[in-house]
Amino acid sequence: MKGSLGLLRIAGIRIGIHYTWLLAFVLITWSLAQGFFPRFFPGWSQTEYWITGVIAALTLFLSVLIHELAHSFVAKASGLPVENITLFIFGGVSNIGGEMKKPRAEFVMAVIGPVSSLVLAAIFWGLRQFAGDSTSPLAATFTYLALVNALLGAFNLLPGFPLDGGRVLRSILWGITRNIRKATNIAATVGQILAFGLIGFGVFQFLQGDFLGGLWVAFIGWFLNGAADASRQEVTLQEHFRGVRVKDIMDATPETVTPEVTVADVVKNIFLRRGRRAAPVCRDGRLAGIVTLTDVKELPQQDWATTAVSEIMATQPLYSVRPEDDLGSAFRLLAQYGINQVLVLQDGKLAGLLSRADVIQHLQLSQEIGMS
Ligand SMILES: [Zn+2]
Repeated sequence: MKGSLGLLRIAGIRIGIHYTWLLAFVLITWSLAQGFFPRFFPGWSQTEYWITGVIAALTLFLSVLIHELAHSFVAKASGLPVENITLFIFGGVSNIGGEMKKPRAEFVMAVIGPVSSLVLAAIFWGLRQFAGDSTSPLAATFTYLALVNALLGAFNLLPGFPLDGGRVLRSILWGITRNIRKATNIAATVGQILAFGLIGFGVFQFLQGDFLGGLWVAFIGWFLNGAADASRQEVTLQEHFRGVRVKDIMDATPETVTPEVTVADVVKNIFLRRGRRAAPVCRDGRLAGIVTLTDVKELPQQDWATTAVSEIMATQPLYSVRPEDDLGSAFRLLAQYGINQVLVLQDGKLAGLLSRADVIQHLQLSQEIGMS
């Protein structure tokens, strides 16, 4: 997620915080210290309310992190790479590379999140029994954490994609129909119905006088609707990409340059004259890197004539696909790393270059011709 700050690593997974998380942290602390705790546990001092509010909010985010770690550990155990976990305004998100190959594995990965939230709720409920006086700040914190984790587990079990419950529904439909696209479409539709229900409920709450609560619920509905729509579009895209290989649309004879060539030469002869946005850099016929428009733009223009390509080219990591790979997985790579082109390698040798523009052009043409 752009705009997030890396904090620490747990079992190789980078844990980050998105700037919107700070807003959620302030809102939750404030509503706990001035709303929930004074209302249900009167008689503490203001300092006690604020300190308890901060601790309860932080432990809530720790609970969300545990929920996400549960998803990520199952993903890793099934061989999927987990890039990172980011906490943001609506909770947490695990950035998992690729999709599960089997419905059963998807089911386990999805259901483990809500299950871990419900287990946390039970643990906090148990701790509360040992906390003595049930109106003390410690017991009140445990009560709140038990409640909020139970809510988190229950909410995530709602059967609309992309909530965990929607993924559970999709895995079951996928198992029955053996068709992941159809299953995703149905689960996304349920997700959108649910989202509109939440927006309607939020508006109702707002009209009833609960302004902040109403807005919040409507906002979550709006976010869910967008996410469900995005996953439906992804399915439609994959439908388009089905059966198309990278070699079918890649540029099989990309202009290459040697590392000694100057940046000014690349701009003039490759970018401007040939209309390319990137050029593989080869030394004695072997791939050494790639130089792109983005790299060039970062160098002041007065240095173009005196700087060799080798000084600004990207060498690590070099993202690549194979000619036989399907276009869907290549497109995912472009989207996931926010890059404009990817090298096509066959047995370590350069076989072509696939750019975002090639993919988009292919989509537009096949749509115009009426191919599905
Ligand atoms: Zn989850």
